[in-house]
Amino acid sequence: MDFSYTPKVRQLIRKLHLFMEESVYPNEALYEQQLNEQENRWSAIPPIMEELKNKAKEAGLWNLFLPDSDYGAGLTNVEYAPLCEIMGRSIIAPEIFNCNAPDTGNMEVLARYGTEQQKNEWLKPLLEGEIRSCFSMTEPDVASSDATNIEARIEKQGAEYVINGRKWWSSGAGDPRCRIAIVMGKTDPDASRHEQQSMILVPMDTPGVKIERMLPVFGYDHAPHGHAEITYENVRVPAENIIWGDGKGFAIAQGRLGPGRIHHCMRLIGAAERALEELCKRVQNRVAFRKPLASQGVIREWIADSRIEIEQARLLTLKAAHMMDTAGNKAAKTEIAMIKVVAPSMALKVIDRAIQAFGAAGVSEDVPLAALWANARTLRLADGPDEVHRAQVAKLELKKYQ
Ligand SMILES: Cc1cc2nc3c(=O)[nH]c(=O)nc-3n(C[C@H](O)[C@H](O)[C@H](O)COP(=O)(O)OP(=O)(O)OC[C@H]3O[C@@H](n4cnc5c(N)ncnc54)[C@H](O)[C@@H]3O)c2cc1C
Repeated sequence: MDFSYTPKVRQLIRKLHLFMEESVYPNEALYEQQLNEQENRWSAIPPIMEELKNKAKEAGLWNLFLPDSDYGAGLTNVEYAPLCEIMGRSIIAPEIFNCNAPDTGNMEVLARYGTEQQKNEWLKPLLEGEIRSCFSMTEPDVASSDATNIEARIEKQGAEYVINGRKWWSSGAGDPRCRIAIVMGKTDPDASRHEQQSMILVPMDTPGVKIERMLPVFGYDHAPHGHAEITYENVRVPAENIIWGDGKGFAIAQGRLGPGRIHHCMRLIGAAERALEELCKRVQNRVAFRKPLASQGVIREWIADSRIEIEQARLLTLKAAHMMDTAGNKAAKTEIAMIKVVAPSMALKVIDRAIQAFGAAGVSEDVPLAALWANARTLRLADGPDEVHRAQVAKLELKKYQ
């Protein structure tokens, strides 16, 4: 495995670092301030976001996530890894570069499985960053870590499909620019277990789509993006809105979640790097009991353990990315499952040490640590809980000896 950077990637890394230093970190507080100055936190997008998006687009730092060169940068997963990592250092960064979940996953679905009409209508404006989207799979009433449980109905009636169901944790649905949902539901409850589900495109302004409430994460509303509980009641869409075909929902979910999962892991490594950097800077200037905190053995141990754990997680991420590039997403499923367990826990540990080293400031909003921690914690659940990924790793391990 060769993880050395090509000249193209080296140049992108340099550009991205510079952009982060000059335009992203200095504007994190302004973004939050502009959000608070609005009528309410959900009513509009802070102007600084659109300003920075335009700047990123002009700089060629746009759609770097898409391996398909017709639509995106055409980078491999190994090439994208260091870039995605840098974006993970700031909560606001991924959107600035049009590389934020769930839009990236939805764009990949449309690029891979969409018809020309679906691509023109939805993929194009998503790639331009003009609209946003959400992915509606999880339901409050069933254990959604097992996607075969999903109960929402997508019934064919003549030239239309009718959708009925209740979803929650549809991330991004709070955004006033969110125009389209990819909804997962059953088209045929009598089909074989993995062919009952389908995915369908539902414009958010279709009659019967109702956002019931926005769900906070440890008190963070994540506005204006947010996580919505949505009811779909007798929602009618044209039959051509189905993606790939009836019964393909499970197959699409597998394809969609692989890249989505590894991108989360890349960003978590970036979040951990930022936390470690903040920790190292802080402890050299902060003096307690007449010594800089950095001279305490326990803090040096935190620093060493953090560096070791970040490097371990990065190597496994790169191995998974390499497998995806060379053997395909399906063949890389064990590596993807492993890193999806490792990366969130690693990031939580590193960020927690940084919070501890900062004292009370660590849990405040003056530094990004608390927000980064809350975000990392959700990723032990989102895109599959740890236990489900561990079950997958164990199953494949046992299979070797059957
Ligand atoms: C911030 C955030 C954003 C999200 N965004 C989206 C989104 O955009 N779209 C979307 O559709 N969903 C989204 N989700 C939902 C997420 O994908 C689900 O929460 C996740 O798949 C788990 O489903 P569940 O909550 O129904 O948990 P359940 O399925 O009820 O599982 C509960 C717990 O049971 C345990 N468990 C489950 N299976 C096993 C097993 N095989 N072995 C041992 N233990 C097990 C695990 O500990 C698990 O956490 C988001 C969640 C969060 C927190």
